[in-house]
Amino acid sequence: MTMNLDLAPEDRAFRDEVRQFIAGVLPASLAKKVEEQRILTKDDHLLWQRALHKRGWAAPHWPPAHGGAGFTPVQRYIFQQECALAYAPRLIPFGLVMVGPVLIEFGSEAQKAKYLPKILASEEWWCQGYSEPESGSDLASLRTRAERDGDHYVLQGTKTWTTLAQYADRMFCLARTGSGGKKQEGISFFLIDMHAPGVTVRPIVTFDGKHEINEVRLDGVRVPVEDRVGEEGAGWTIAKFLLGNERVGIAQVAASKGQLARLKRIMAAEKLDSPIFRDRVAQVEIELRALEITELRIVTAEQQGRSPGPEASLLKIKGTEVAQAITELLVEAVGYDALPDRWRMNEGDNMPPIGPDYADSVAPYYFNWRKTSIYGGSNEIQRNIIAKAVLGL
Ligand SMILES: Cc1cc2nc3c(=O)[nH]c(=O)nc-3n(C[C@H](O)[C@H](O)[C@H](O)COP(=O)(O)OP(=O)(O)OC[C@H]3O[C@@H](n4cnc5c(N)ncnc54)[C@H](O)[C@@H]3O)c2cc1C
Repeated sequence: MTMNLDLAPEDRAFRDEVRQFIAGVLPASLAKKVEEQRILTKDDHLLWQRALHKRGWAAPHWPPAHGGAGFTPVQRYIFQQECALAYAPRLIPFGLVMVGPVLIEFGSEAQKAKYLPKILASEEWWCQGYSEPESGSDLASLRTRAERDGDHYVLQGTKTWTTLAQYADRMFCLARTGSGGKKQEGISFFLIDMHAPGVTVRPIVTFDGKHEINEVRLDGVRVPVEDRVGEEGAGWTIAKFLLGNERVGIAQVAASKGQLARLKRIMAAEKLDSPIFRDRVAQVEIELRALEITELRIVTAEQQGRSPGPEASLLKIKGTEVAQAITELLVEAVGYDALPDRWRMNEGDNMPPIGPDYADSVAPYYFNWRKTSIYGGSNEIQRNIIAKAVLGL
């Protein structure tokens, strides 16, 4: 599939520049790991993010005054496409995509000076402390408390599903500073030092056997007042601004294209030419194409200064459905060899994996990707948004 965008000469030149840059800095071994959807190490991520920083491209969405790349919407689209098609790692979003723009919009000058340069240079790893054991979709019901004690707040509570908190130096976090009134009121936005006394990170192992998410206990954690972003009680407004940024590039069209290309290579290697299977692959490809055109319509609107509304929900739903369908086709394409770790179950740890190289990551990827219809606002919640905002129900 080629890019469906009639590129102006300067955008074509930009695309070539991006391709050249990626070819020069992305190691083939790392691209292979991304293509095969293997878990990346912290160093893998840092290598890529620091290369982007060196080129001035670590933060496509930040204004240039704060070190952002200053891309136009079309350039951002091209950049995202080219990175995904070359199997570059996804940007870890918590610093660059989420809290960075929050600080630019709502942070004090001191917070900007202290945090933004380290986020840009990936010198500090951030994680997101929104969800709690009883508060996911209904985030405003969160119960972590922050009590004022002189020039500090003292935080008490539990955050959960916290992605890659095991690597994090800092966590941005919502906590309740007031009660009474609507549940959205009385929430404040804090920047927490993950190395502070009282912070405990406990792994949650997902059903692909990997450690990607965590529980974070906050037990009397002292947070200086200067690490509250915005006014006390203004956290919900900031939380919503941040969730808007979380949906940036949510459809993952280019990443799905990369996985579809991988599926076709595997089909060729497996000599899989059943017309029924090929028909199913074609159906997914058609859906992906339609999604890409929807995404391009949004890029065009952004280029004309309009910001996306409920379309983001549509992209999230359809993008995750297509991506999950591709993981299912991959499992079927490798057949019996997809059985996860069957050699371990039968033979103990000393046996090499059975089957072709490309097969052993297929099932873990299938299992792992179930998460995409849950995180970033579950697909049911996205449907509620469409029902309200588009259908007026
Ligand atoms: C892999 C992964 C990584 C994550 N990383 C982070 C992270 O780094 N930081 C963070 O803060 N959070 C993170 N999350 C949490 C994520 O945002 C929540 O899981 C999500 O918001 C859903 O909340 P919940 O799990 O509590 O489910 P619940 O809200 O309890 O929902 C359970 C089910 O009910 C449905 N449901 C709930 N309310 C409604 C409704 N009103 N209408 C229709 N259906 C409804 C949901 O769609 C879902 O199917 C992560 C989640 C996953 C799976």
